[in-house]
Amino acid sequence: MIKKIIDQNKIKEVEKAFNVAQNLVIVAHVGPDGDALGSSLGLWHYLQQKGKKVTVIFPSPYPDFIGWMAGAEHSLIYTHKKEQSEKAINECDLIVAVDFNTPKRLDTLANPIVNSTAKKIMIDHHLHPDTDFAQIIISHPEMASTSELIFRILNRIDTIENISKECAEVLYTGMMTDTGAFTYNSNNQDIYIIIAELLKKGIDKDAIYRKVFNTFSADRIRLQGYCIYKKMKIYPEYRTALITLSKKEQQQFNFQNGDAEGFVNIPLSIKNIVFSVFMREDSDKIKLSFRSQGDFPSNQFAKNIFNGGGHLNASGGESYLTLEETADKFEKALPTFKNELLK
Ligand code: 5GP
Ligand code: MN
Repeated sequence: MIKKIIDQNKIKEVEKAFNVAQNLVIVAHVGPDGDALGSSLGLWHYLQQKGKKVTVIFPSPYPDFIGWMAGAEHSLIYTHKKEQSEKAINECDLIVAVDFNTPKRLDTLANPIVNSTAKKIMIDHHLHPDTDFAQIIISHPEMASTSELIFRILNRIDTIENISKECAEVLYTGMMTDTGAFTYNSNNQDIYIIIAELLKKGIDKDAIYRKVFNTFSADRIRLQGYCIYKKMKIYPEYRTALITLSKKEQQQFNFQNGDAEGFVNIPLSIKNIVFSVFMREDSDKIKLSFRSQGDFPSNQFAKNIFNGGGHLNASGGESYLTLEETADKFEKALPTFKNELLK
């Protein structure tokens, strides 16, 4: 039995909103990941099947390793299809925001979405949802993925029979990617009951794993080797690791969108390392990724030092200093977290 975690009144509200709406827009966060696609496309499959007009819009492109997900080809990338996206937003009567907690995570898509008079629902698992954003908010930070939340909602407003194989496939993909293939944030027993239900739909979980994780280019694997061999800095006294990657180094390895995905996790497999940080130089900023294991609050570090945020064990932020200055700032901040790091 899957526990009924979501409040029944919320379920009723969402069910009603889905029933009433004829023309929906679903949006997820900038730099969409497996869970952003999984949750938005999962909902898309379901609502399409119900005869609704539904448009999924992402603020920016998604990486190739999740581009095969069923329905992705019908989604709009705001930066590429601005007019078409704005038309869909103007015409819709319901906006469903998934896998983000504040419109800031929509980047340039924030304005058209915030300014829309359509009713809004937020379904998310990040801390501190912006309660002004939507009329209905289903926020469960204890949930490992938004895809799991979507499954739980569909399972409450309908029967599993009405979830298609494609829907099951994308929801599984989101649950898998947000837990590192069920290696973190994945001790909740319900996850495995849900997976069993999705498997009954005929999904091939082993093939999904291969499609997501075993499709790297040779350049990407070489870049990974380079990052570990040449760029990984270990701070044993703080049980911490840092990898930085400049624009120039990216060019050397023919860097493609998403190529550095997962690099931040690698140092956590070193004995005694509990905190790992990856810094990537973008054209206009430094993008920071933080990961921790156990109790160390990576999100607190991200927030205090870099004005970022996220989950306890996976968070991020941005810096507008140079890459060197950002690394310097990071090193200087480490001692202030010494107690937590050595706990
Ligand atoms: P990633 O390292 O995969 O880019 O991000 C991991 C998590 O950190 C995301 O799921 C998101 O919750 C959070 N995150 C990433 N970047 C930012 C940021 O710039 N600001 C905030 N507040 N959270 C972020
Ligand atoms: Mn997520």
